[in-house]
Amino acid sequence: VSKVLEEFEVEEQPSTVLENRFPNIKVIESGVKQLKSEEHCILTEDGHQHVYKKLCLCAGAKPKLICEGNPYVLGIRDTDSAQRFFFLDFPTGNCNIPPRYEIEGCEVIWAIKDKAIGNTFFDAGAAEFLTSKLMSEKSEAKIAHRRTIYTVEGAKKENRTKAKADNVGSALGPDWHGGLDLKGTEEFSHNIHIETRCEVKKIYLQEEFRIMQKKPLAFPKDQHKSVTVDKERWPVYVELTNGKIYGCDFLVSATGVTPNVHPFLLGNNFDLGEDGGLKVDDQMRTSLPDIYAAGDICTACWQPSPVWQQ
Ligand SMILES: Cc1cc2nc3c(=O)[nH]c(=O)nc-3n(C[C@H](O)[C@H](O)[C@H](O)COP(=O)(O)OP(=O)(O)OC[C@H]3O[C@@H](n4cnc5c(N)ncnc54)[C@H](O)[C@@H]3O)c2cc1C
Repeated sequence: VSKVLEEFEVEEQPSTVLENRFPNIKVIESGVKQLKSEEHCILTEDGHQHVYKKLCLCAGAKPKLICEGNPYVLGIRDTDSAQRFFFLDFPTGNCNIPPRYEIEGCEVIWAIKDKAIGNTFFDAGAAEFLTSKLMSEKSEAKIAHRRTIYTVEGAKKENRTKAKADNVGSALGPDWHGGLDLKGTEEFSHNIHIETRCEVKKIYLQEEFRIMQKKPLAFPKDQHKSVTVDKERWPVYVELTNGKIYGCDFLVSATGVTPNVHPFLLGNNFDLGEDGGLKVDDQMRTSLPDIYAAGDICTACWQPSPVWQQ
């Protein structure tokens, strides 16, 4: 698309607006439970069956959590998971958070497997520049945005409670924390410590960790001083592959996403990419007839242009 498109605007409106404007569009508010590709039909959670001529699957992706089922490991992806994050209320403690700079009064330990932050997007020199900004006290005035900003501010409570853990909303985009007061209980602006070239080796719950009698490290306040042993008790402890162990209130797992293909696989022989997405060709066709896919659910299987960049 970027060959012909330079700019586009996104507007959020109720689905009825779309239906009124385009009579050929009908919006069904229900999740797809099953796809029967041979019969050209889908079953939705409200018990209905819908026959299609052509189908385009755009069910997005889910956060790839470093550890499933641990209440202290969060993935922030959609408005519902962001609300869970927000309601944690930031008690004092260490945490690994994607909007690291935005959170005040909270100690953040950021563990990354590369030698510098943002390795996928920019080089180590640019990372150095950004790291010093990240560590500095917040003093810069906010830059005015020229585009529409979407946040979870004002999201109705009943809408949130409706959403179950396995029934998530659409991806948040970069601005979800706008308007939220992301403040911990500590007085300082923010403290960030970065551990590079390491991964999370193991996560221990408090009781498990107590029995092991390992020594956790305190938050390194001064980059030049070696860290001391932590005196506090934390709900959860994280052991890194560099041997260091830190206690924290919670962990934010920001290690990418997994395509949300699950509801569509049963009984359908889709070709899947290495990341588990539905393979699509340059016409966005999947391997099954009359089924297309777009967005985070799919894996592009054509040769990228030499100027293709993430
Ligand atoms: C915090 C964050 C920041 C990001 N920042 C950027 C950025 O700055 N720039 C950028 O380009 N990208 C960014 N992204 C990525 C971008 O948001 C996604 O790539 C994009 O939203 C994917 O669009 P999609 O339509 O494929 O999926 P989504 O937007 O996730 O939409 C999928 C929809 O399908 C629905 N669905 C799922 N399963 C079913 C089912 N069984 N039946 C019916 N409906 C279903 C979901 O409820 C959802 O509404 C960010 C993502 C996150 C999480």
